[in-house]
Amino acid sequence: MKPTFPLPERDIMSMLSPNFSRKELACRHCGELRVQEPLVRALEELRELAGAALLVLDGYRCPEHNLEMGKVPDSEHTKGWAADLTIPGRSLQEMYELALQVPQFFEGGIGVYDQNYLHVDVRQGKARWACVRGQYVGIQHLVQPYPHEGERRRLAGRA
Ligand SMILES: [Zn+2]
Ligand SMILES: [Zn+2]
Repeated sequence: MKPTFPLPERDIMSMLSPNFSRKELACRHCGELRVQEPLVRALEELRELAGAALLVLDGYRCPEHNLEMGKVPDSEHTKGWAADLTIPGRSLQEMYELALQVPQFFEGGIGVYDQNYLHVDVRQGKARWACVRGQYVGIQHLVQPYPHEGERRRLAGRA
């Protein structure tokens, strides 16, 4: 594979999809951009559900940048199918529940971070986690993982 990046400035500023610019999803340290289309489609779906702009904190990461970050579970970023984001005005639980409604994320990876942001990726196979003070723990440490099942159990308990 021949890298053709960093992109010229005019390309960086152009839109990758209706709501996301190339710059938003490009590597924060070198501008390289290799994102997979299913990620972009899923992000558009999440944006639609949120009814508000998503603030993308990190999208594609080149291997060098990923190493710098020292985040092993985040290596999905180097494959171009992960993004870290926050939705201004929404709680972590609300963001998590919105992500669950996007089939690609539901079937893929969702991580919640105590710095009030979400990691989402479109890997094959479910992965869930929480990150509290830099430690990876079960997702239930930060959110109610199965909001609808929890609801069913509560209702069943009352019956
Ligand atoms: Zn880079
Ligand atoms: Zn991430």
